[in-house]
Amino acid sequence: MKINELFTEQKRTFSFEFFPPKDYLTAVKFGINAGQLMKLNPSFVSITYGAGGSSHKHTFDLVNFFQNDLGFNCMAHYTVLNTTREKIAYDMRTLQDMGIENVMLLRGDPPKGSSTFPHNTDGFNHASDLISFVRKNFDFSIGAAAYPEKHVESKSIDDDIDYLWQKVDAGADFLITQMFFDNQYYWEYLNKVVQKGITCRIIPGIIPITNYMQIKRFAEISGARITESIHKAMSQIQDQPLEMYRKGLEIAKIQSMELLENGASGIHVFTLNKSRAAIELFDHLPMDNKRL
Ligand code: FAD
Repeated sequence: MKINELFTEQKRTFSFEFFPPKDYLTAVKFGINAGQLMKLNPSFVSITYGAGGSSHKHTFDLVNFFQNDLGFNCMAHYTVLNTTREKIAYDMRTLQDMGIENVMLLRGDPPKGSSTFPHNTDGFNHASDLISFVRKNFDFSIGAAAYPEKHVESKSIDDDIDYLWQKVDAGADFLITQMFFDNQYYWEYLNKVVQKGITCRIIPGIIPITNYMQIKRFAEISGARITESIHKAMSQIQDQPLEMYRKGLEIAKIQSMELLENGASGIHVFTLNKSRAAIELFDHLPMDNKRL
């Protein structure tokens, strides 16, 4: 089902993001975790796309499996790095033939070791270029990325929101945010975005901090600020994995509850291919039949 159509049925969505496992053992672990998450009947699941198309085959295989064998409503992520018009068209047709109805269209990060994004000769230099092409030529529900604390390359939040508007204008149906740890950033961002005339759903992306050093690294790369109180609490229990898990989950529960109680349109969990925190978070949230 198209995610934008799902919105007419579900006031709030609960969704999971996975990445394609890299080897046999992680695939087995991933399968066990995904099996646990299936029971929760999420609104949709999304599968990331490796930088520069490095996970192309695995992403496509996995969305096919999730959609057609497991019966999840699935969304395939896709990025423009190293693509041509022909390749994008071919890949979108492949997804369509698999019965995939949802795509998350992104620019992707610059290649490793480079701080700038390489010029694309077919003109796909920003996510909005990709969104515009796919909107004109295919019939997908389209998601795009939003950054409550601005994208790391953006000069200012206002510039960032101008470019966000371009993505929506080009055809994005909904937005999913980068991780953030202080809801204030999300609410302030929402205010600005609405003033700009963007009215589509902006689903908060939440990452439970179950391994502080790992999440701290991700946060630094993506420009998400970890609050002083989280840093303090987590630094004190760095050598106690169980305590860290409990604290990280508690933080995610409080954050998600506050978002939902104040009208956020759902929760998108970056699962890191683990199920335990996602299940406990989901169980805690006041979703009617685990959905509203
Ligand atoms: P864009 O919207 O193109 O923005 C990139 C930068 O260019 C921003 O600074 C923006 O302000 C600027 N910009 C945009 N348009 C213009 C313009 N017309 N002129 C000048 N500047 C402009 N990455 C992956 O590789 N695979 C994934 O599966 C993946 N999934 C993600 C899921 C979510 C929910 C999020 C939030 C991010 C994800 N990413 C993924 C990361 C994403 O690819 C990076 O953040 C990337 O650096 C930017 O992608 P974008 O689609 O936001 O790009």
